[in-house]
Amino acid sequence: MPRILKQYKVALEKSDSKESVAGTYPDNLGMRTKLGGNPDWIQNDETPICPSCNKKMSFIAQIDSVEHQSGLNPNSVNALSPDQEYMFGDVGMIYVFYCFDCGETLSLLQGY
Ligand SMILES: [Zn+2]
Repeated sequence: MPRILKQYKVALEKSDSKESVAGTYPDNLGMRTKLGGNPDWIQNDETPICPSCNKKMSFIAQIDSVEHQSGLNPNSVNALSPDQEYMFGDVGMIYVFYCFDCGETLSLLQGY
């Protein structure tokens, strides 16, 4: 059975920067969720190739482990508590890609 996670409303705010909008490691852990710009890769660049047309896919979003326990994170949840649901691996991030030519999507995970 898939889990049904608690909901978070996402507020979108335009940013003129194409770089990270959440500060620097490790203060930004849990707060790196965003749309567009460049991916904030935790490991190496793993931009996927579209399985239909074999071109590099466009970066759409990254979803952070938003409940990472930290005094700086407004959505911090005690890491030992079962209430901490948004933890992808070890403070990992899910990256979402899209091919504007084919309509294909792919996501991948990186962590520490
Ligand atoms: Zn494609």
